[in-house]
Amino acid sequence: MSDRLPGFSTLAVHAGAQPDPTTGARATPIYQTTSFVFNDADHAASLFGLQAFGNIYTRIGNPTNAVLEERVAALEGGTAALAVASGHAAQVVVLQQLLQPGDEFIAARKLYGGSINQFTHAFKSFGWNVVWADPDDIASFERAVTPRTKAIFIESIANPAGSITDIEAISTVARKAGVPLIVDNTLASPYLIRPIDHGADIVVHSLTKFLGGHGNSLGGIIVDAGTFDWSTGGKYPMLSEPRPEYHGIRLQETFGNFAFAIACRVLGLRDLGPALSPFNAFMILTGIETLPLRMQKHCDNAKAVAEFLAGHPAVAAVNYAGLASDKYNQLARKYAPKGAGAVFTFSLKGGYDAGVSLVSKLQLFSHLANVGDTRSLVIHPASTTHSQLDDAAKVKSGAGPDVVRLSIGIEDKEDLIADLEQALGA
Ligand SMILES: *Cc1c(COP(=O)(O)O)cnc(C)c1O
Repeated sequence: MSDRLPGFSTLAVHAGAQPDPTTGARATPIYQTTSFVFNDADHAASLFGLQAFGNIYTRIGNPTNAVLEERVAALEGGTAALAVASGHAAQVVVLQQLLQPGDEFIAARKLYGGSINQFTHAFKSFGWNVVWADPDDIASFERAVTPRTKAIFIESIANPAGSITDIEAISTVARKAGVPLIVDNTLASPYLIRPIDHGADIVVHSLTKFLGGHGNSLGGIIVDAGTFDWSTGGKYPMLSEPRPEYHGIRLQETFGNFAFAIACRVLGLRDLGPALSPFNAFMILTGIETLPLRMQKHCDNAKAVAEFLAGHPAVAAVNYAGLASDKYNQLARKYAPKGAGAVFTFSLKGGYDAGVSLVSKLQLFSHLANVGDTRSLVIHPASTTHSQLDDAAKVKSGAGPDVVRLSIGIEDKEDLIADLEQALGA
């Protein structure tokens, strides 16, 4: 073996996986078991006391899921990761380690519609208060910081319009405030953007989207960058204070630069319970093996479709950061030089009615609420994913009434353009 560090495509296929030591199986087996036999009483006690790493019960960890965790940690450049049942579960588990009732976190206003809902309503009932900021106005993050701020949450490529966030500028605000920066990297995937390289302390994903990539399995993951010091100022007691359920150990002191991933596992996942099925972990691992190939094709197709739409007389505007004329093109060149992703929006001169009509006439595009599938997808956010927002908030989050969102798949781009052409022209 050479001492070359493996490249991204090699890690996508191999990171975390070994031939199965018992059977020699080359693909990662699905360890479809709830629990694992202890060697003896001492072994069991050391596992429960966090003195040894090993398998206990699939709600806390599973060998198939462990391969997925190691692979995504390697692709993102983090120290460790924790897989959970969905992207939303990842967000709950992360914030549970950081916020006490009455605390605040700052979130970019341009977010996945489900995250806006989760932050506004579900988290409020836990006493976690979201304060919104505008990702196009970095000073709005600075103004939002208070003594109760415990984290900043942004998307790297933001739903629904595929806008690019200035991660480095916001990480500077987070550093000054002494709080971690959490980046939802779902729409970019680590193939396009690695937020840790730009100052993120925690990366979360909905594995359901581009990482799994085939629209067949839900999952989520949390990646610990290992960069944040949780012990300063007593702001993060879950990490810095003695844990009664683990004989008084302090997680930061014991686990150092992967303490956050451990906290998410042994406090968050163990107690809240959103475990990922090993079967889904297997499906997502298989998807990740082709991530670099798929992602490049997704981006190349998206650019071709965006260029076609930009030249069509029925189209009022196209929001795709990969277009030279787009307001996010500079940021796209800096953060995502291989491509600006495959999710973007455009608006029609005919407004709301034209949007609804287009969606009903498309044949190759599937009308559904998902992104990051091999298949091309279409949705009208104002009447679906963002329908809970009032009109002003819809426009602010990029989901105005005339807006249509596309997630471009890996079909032949000529077929996608032909489908749009017949639906727009008819
Ligand atoms: C889908 C999505 C989520 C939520 O993930 P689930 O797996 O559906 O729970 C979070 N953030 C973004 C950007 C998403 O696209």
